[in-house]
Amino acid sequence: MIDLRSDTVTKPTEEMRKAAYEAEVGDDVYGEDPAINKLEETAAEILGKEAALFVTSGTQGNQIAILTHCRPGNEIILEAESHIFYYETGTASAFAGVQTRTIKGTRGAMDPAEVQYAIREEDQHYPESGLICLENTHNRAGGAAVPVENMKEIHKIAKGNNIPVHIDGARLFNAAAALNLPASELTQYCDTVQVCLSKGLGAPVGSILAGSREFIASARKWRKRLGGGLRQSGIIAAPGLVALTQMRERLAEDHENAQYLAEQLNQINGIHIINQVDTNIVVADVKDLNMNSSQFVEKIKSEGVLAGTFGSSSVRFVTHYDVSRNDIEKAIAAIQRAAN
Ligand SMILES: *Cc1c(COP(=O)(O)O)cnc(C)c1O
Repeated sequence: MIDLRSDTVTKPTEEMRKAAYEAEVGDDVYGEDPAINKLEETAAEILGKEAALFVTSGTQGNQIAILTHCRPGNEIILEAESHIFYYETGTASAFAGVQTRTIKGTRGAMDPAEVQYAIREEDQHYPESGLICLENTHNRAGGAAVPVENMKEIHKIAKGNNIPVHIDGARLFNAAAALNLPASELTQYCDTVQVCLSKGLGAPVGSILAGSREFIASARKWRKRLGGGLRQSGIIAAPGLVALTQMRERLAEDHENAQYLAEQLNQINGIHIINQVDTNIVVADVKDLNMNSSQFVEKIKSEGVLAGTFGSSSVRFVTHYDVSRNDIEKAIAAIQRAAN
């Protein structure tokens, strides 16, 4: 099977497994796990923030950010198809007690004027605007790399209104690679950021939440409340450090594979690529094959390729470390057979 459902399917490399085996560990709730401390310090440095916290998943990182920045009854401003709104099981309202104010973006980027408009003035009727969330790369916009200029403008508006900015950067390093910038150039326009170690970077488990020292101290308490205070977690942090320090450089390879996959799939009768492929995500519309997306996904599965539905007639393919150019070639041939 060639698995293009997500970059989360990557398995830990030899080096990551070895790092886990050899990790020097301690009790992280006492702050005594050297591998965790090293990962958090390194992540903070790469992300240009004072401090960082290892969290069990991207969702946990995003939700801890909301819980830490906001109070119940706040309103958070975010893109209409952002992961936090679309794919986090309503947790922002269930746990943090915030309501969401969504803005439809263009290729994942919200119009700064609309963000400005959405910010609440002081009025006894209104909730307070507690947080602005950005997402880069933007998953449902097909892995779009949101331009730095857009982040900069929204950040400026946020600061002018004393509202913090959080980046859901599950795939921030893909954005950095696509924009050919260090990640810290992007994170300078936020107060806090969440990055996934277990997507394109290939680590088995975990995400990082980074921000100011004070913020991370509060976030640590929220993590404990959510059951995310772990003990000898250096076992999973050590592969995470390999991912963070050694796997960022090669993301461009996944982007080239995605570009190639998109070009080739577009030449198959009945398949239309509907996203601009900035990074490692390719979205195909299959309605001209007279199939819905579920039928198409089943059909290509029988030919040895896995992909995910992304709407009633659209299908998402994600390239990653565990699929080579040769696998991509095989996948294209298999999808061609399925389409015939
Ligand atoms: C994957 C993802 C997350 C978090 O995912 P987890 O499965 O909880 O680790 C958050 N935001 C975006 C944009 C994602 O793609």
